[in-house]
Amino acid sequence: MASGESTPNPEEESGLGRNFITQIIDEHNASGRFDGRVHTRFPPEPNGYLHIGHAKSINLNFGLAEQYGGKFNLRFDDTNPTKEKQEYIEAIIEDVRWLGADWEDRLFYASDYFGQLYEWAVRLIKQGDAYVDHLNADEIREYRGTLTEPGKDSPYRDRSVEENLDLFERMKAGEFDEGECVLRAAIDMASPNINMRDPVLYRILHEAHPRTGTEWHIYPMYDWAHGQSDSIEEVTHSLCTLEFEAHRPLYEWCLEKLGIYQPQQIEFARLALTYTILSKRKLIQLVEEGHVSGWDDPRMPTISGLRRRGYTPEAIRAFTDQIGVAKANSMIEIEQLEHFIRQDLNYSANRVMSVLNPLKVVIENYPEGQVEQLEAVNNPEDESAGTRMVPFSRELYIEQDDFMEDPPKKFYRLAPGREVRLRYGYFITCTDVIKDADGNIVELRCTYDPETRGGHAPDGRRVKATLHWVSVEKALQAEVRLYDRLFSQEDPSKVANGQTFIDVLNPDSLQVIERAYVEPSVQGAEAGTRYQFERLGYFCVDPDSTDEKMVFNRTVGLRDTWAKIQKQK
Ligand code: ATP
Ligand code: MG
Repeated sequence: MASGESTPNPEEESGLGRNFITQIIDEHNASGRFDGRVHTRFPPEPNGYLHIGHAKSINLNFGLAEQYGGKFNLRFDDTNPTKEKQEYIEAIIEDVRWLGADWEDRLFYASDYFGQLYEWAVRLIKQGDAYVDHLNADEIREYRGTLTEPGKDSPYRDRSVEENLDLFERMKAGEFDEGECVLRAAIDMASPNINMRDPVLYRILHEAHPRTGTEWHIYPMYDWAHGQSDSIEEVTHSLCTLEFEAHRPLYEWCLEKLGIYQPQQIEFARLALTYTILSKRKLIQLVEEGHVSGWDDPRMPTISGLRRRGYTPEAIRAFTDQIGVAKANSMIEIEQLEHFIRQDLNYSANRVMSVLNPLKVVIENYPEGQVEQLEAVNNPEDESAGTRMVPFSRELYIEQDDFMEDPPKKFYRLAPGREVRLRYGYFITCTDVIKDADGNIVELRCTYDPETRGGHAPDGRRVKATLHWVSVEKALQAEVRLYDRLFSQEDPSKVANGQTFIDVLNPDSLQVIERAYVEPSVQGAEAGTRYQFERLGYFCVDPDSTDEKMVFNRTVGLRDTWAKIQKQK
């Protein structure tokens, strides 16, 4: 079993509690390094939709700002116009807001700083700390060396300041082709840290940018933009995932050379979930190749997918709080995420009855044409949710697997000659089984005991099962979409030779039930409304719903396998 990232401490149930990052912040507060300020940010690149891993980063950054009475910025690291789109910017803003992180009036873009970053690059050139290199991409790679061998200096490294200033100016003016030359920092081609071997700061791209249009022909590399953007915004604690640890010396080098304000970068382990892919590049591939219906397909680990699936921001926050932050990468079980949505919906979702695989029941001694209203409890966990009326009639649907003609020993539900309770209704007894020409059961004949209204027999006799049901006449026909894991393998990125993650997609991740039935109280519920379908799981109204036909997504089933795993520990 994969281990959780941190053991929850019962004393620290609220919010993020204490962790290695709060320890660092406390030390800074004690030493006065940032004058007691805590200012964090979430810096997405708008090259895809946000996923649950980003939610961890958002909740961490916003949560720390909240916990310390500090500030939180949202900043787009929009430095690569070949991959970035306005659509992504808008989707990210919507998702961060939905998660509940509040950037107030501090929505920024790295592209706002392009002018400043350019001036700073000129300053480096003047200091002899940067040069224009005419090696092509392959040559740069060749000259860079390897983990075990040092690199070697570019033949262009010793250009004069004047020549570099002139060439950089002309790069900016669009005089060169893409790839013809780059601006590089002059650091150390023999550094054991490859990031310090004269990293590229600017590249030529004749590409329109979603925000700056065609103004620029050169774009800063992420490594040049990121640290300076944090500095401009006076971020105190720049939190990022572990792969940036080796970039930290480079960020510090840039800030020192420029002599500007220095945030503290702190690295933490990125979230990895079983049966889930959290790489934007791969998520884009799933969308573009049509393996899913879009970024918000409810099987996607994206925030928009989880939202459409029925997840709440509260459940996602509780999940990210509970897994905490750590310095070592590990895999979190998907059941743990499911546990939190189940826990949330158990308290917040109203119960309704729905039948997914209908089997018709005719109650022969119930008057034809009669419909009576039975009172049903909306939420046993929340008395204030009240009650509703559910129509009962002579013809009902029950679930196919709630009946067996020849039941084995431990099957307590309906069978020939057996009496069961209908939820909120009466006791019924099966008297006959009707089959079609092929021998399939198509209908049950039953009788009911009028004395058992409300589910109790006056003579005290008991039944062993309570079934959910809907009225044939009054129920709504609806489409129900059942989701399973998108991948059939615990770690979809670990595939056999010659395979890709596409090969381990679960072919049964979506099951559509075209003709399910739901009690009429759900009629007209808005997209996103969440319910517990009694005995079946948690469901929510999908935006594909129309006036003619409602569509429901199963968020999660009822059985909490994570709680079981925890108990076993
Ligand atoms: P890529 O850079 O490959 O496009 P990314 O997931 O790193 O993908 P960013 O938009 O750069 O995308 O991420 C924004 C922030 O979210 C970064 O600070 C990054 O460290 C953090 N982040 C990304 N993935 C995860 C994850 N799985 N767990 C926690 N934080 C993450
Ligand atoms: Mg990134």
